[in-house]
Amino acid sequence: MVAAVTDVSPVPGASDRTRVRRLPERAVNQVAALHAVLDACLIAHVAVIDDDGQPYVLPVAFARRGDEVVFHGSTGSRLFRSLADGGPTCLTVTRLDGLVLARSAFESSMNYRSAMVLGVARRLTGDDELDALRTITEHLLPGRWADCRPPSPKERAATMTLALSLAESSVKIRTGGPEDVPEDITDPVYAPVWAGTVPLTESFGKAIRSAEAQPDAPVPSYISTWRRA
Ligand SMILES: Cc1cc2nc3c(=O)[nH]c(=O)nc-3n(C[C@H](O)[C@H](O)[C@H](O)COP(=O)(O)OP(=O)(O)OC[C@H]3O[C@@H](n4cnc5c(N)ncnc54)[C@H](O)[C@@H]3O)c2cc1C
Repeated sequence: MVAAVTDVSPVPGASDRTRVRRLPERAVNQVAALHAVLDACLIAHVAVIDDDGQPYVLPVAFARRGDEVVFHGSTGSRLFRSLADGGPTCLTVTRLDGLVLARSAFESSMNYRSAMVLGVARRLTGDDELDALRTITEHLLPGRWADCRPPSPKERAATMTLALSLAESSVKIRTGGPEDVPEDITDPVYAPVWAGTVPLTESFGKAIRSAEAQPDAPVPSYISTWRRA
């Protein structure tokens, strides 16, 4: 049975611990923005603390599925098991949009979209888990799931899939140019220093055929035409 997905997430920054205090003008308190940032990112970083109190941060493939994010790992992973056992976690995603070069090192910055989700993950099973695995594959490359072999029972047994609700989240976005201090803009030495933004875009390169691929098999259009915003 696939769990119902409501697509209704609480507003980002609603809880005391997710309210952005540092540069609060960069906080975005809209669910649509949370969804857009998550959808724009290909990887997430998931925090987990082991039994010795050592924090780890795992980079993982993930996808948003309605009002939760889903991600998978190995059933043999002690860190994933710790998450499945109810350890509190923090998942972040970041999309870097550019370097912001001020005349001073201190005022230089980055343009970005980032989201943070707090909570306790739950382990998925059965068709619900399969749907999450499909969602992750489709997030990375829409159209791929229908083409590739689905996971076998043995592969399913080796995979742990977790879902984390978007119930407690925050979003922080920076856009625009540098914010130089006025003294630097008139300073005889530093006023001429180039200042501005250097945009950074993320794109896939040309697909490279595997050695075993059938030589006359065309690159599927869902690969050759896949562009990301
Ligand atoms: C690409 C990138 C580069 C950055 N580089 C630096 C850097 O070099 N040095 C630096 O100090 N900061 C940097 N930041 C900002 C950093 O992520 C924090 O926002 C900042 O350090 C303030 O942290 P805080 O705990 O004092 O914030 P607070 O405002 O006190 O945090 C309160 C709550 O706001 C939310 N929050 C805080 N930061 C973020 C975020 N980035 N995204 C979503 N929710 C958030 C969380 O829910 C948090 O619990 C960078 C951010 C990005 C995306």
